[in-house]
Amino acid sequence: MANILEIADGVYQISSDNYRLSSGLILGQTQALVIDTGAGPRQGQEVLDAVRSLTDLPLAVVNSHAHFDRFMGNAVFEAAGARDFWAHPRTAQAIAQRGDAQRPYVEVLEPEMAHRQGPATQLVVPNRLLAEEVNRSSFTQLYLGGRTVTLIYLGPAHTDGDVLVGVEDILFTGDIVEQGSEPAFEDSYPAFWVTALQDIAGLERYRVFVPGHGKPVDRAFVERMGQTMGQAIERLQSSALAQDSQVRTASMYQLPYSGGASRILLDRLRQLEQAEN
Ligand SMILES: [Zn+2]
Repeated sequence: MANILEIADGVYQISSDNYRLSSGLILGQTQALVIDTGAGPRQGQEVLDAVRSLTDLPLAVVNSHAHFDRFMGNAVFEAAGARDFWAHPRTAQAIAQRGDAQRPYVEVLEPEMAHRQGPATQLVVPNRLLAEEVNRSSFTQLYLGGRTVTLIYLGPAHTDGDVLVGVEDILFTGDIVEQGSEPAFEDSYPAFWVTALQDIAGLERYRVFVPGHGKPVDRAFVERMGQTMGQAIERLQSSALAQDSQVRTASMYQLPYSGGASRILLDRLRQLEQAEN
């Protein structure tokens, strides 16, 4: 059973064990918004059960980005009556084009999803899209009856289509903010990600930040995450410029992340640099 944390009146974090996933629920008077549906029918049902223990309202969904743990539970919510699935256009496109390619990742914990066998294993591609913005911020208001939430896009960061969800002084950040695990750089835009973290820390109305994995954090945590990432990028870039291999190795050891995450970050920076040239 998922763990439910009431952050404010009618605003919940729903945490499930698999993938340390943090989902969200925001209740209005006529509608409730679910943030991130899990990695397949099993986790989708776990999140839905938690939601239904709190509300009978009609549901809408937002997928914060196009990683499997965010959208592969969508079909469970569609079967439960949800019709509106919100996302950034590039997230919707990524799910439509590359969603199936992510099925192997869930082989162990969601075998039905991995093999597309059984109920609620089809992909449900988001059908309500934020305005297409490439490198500019955008804010989309969503009315849930008596309560308005804001879907926020701050440019590329953890992926090229991350959406944050703000309600009162609470901001659900997707994987742009991570607590208790390292940032996942695989298909990220590290330099823009640092900017996004600075921007988030500068959104003064928000005081509680709900990460994509882990426990809610404060503004200082978001600022530190941005500083740490900025330093890591700087060190990797200066070590790449260093002729002396000992200097290069030494600066790799000074990185704030584990060897694995540092390597992925380095590879991603090179890949982006090559794409530019
Ligand atoms: Zn992610």
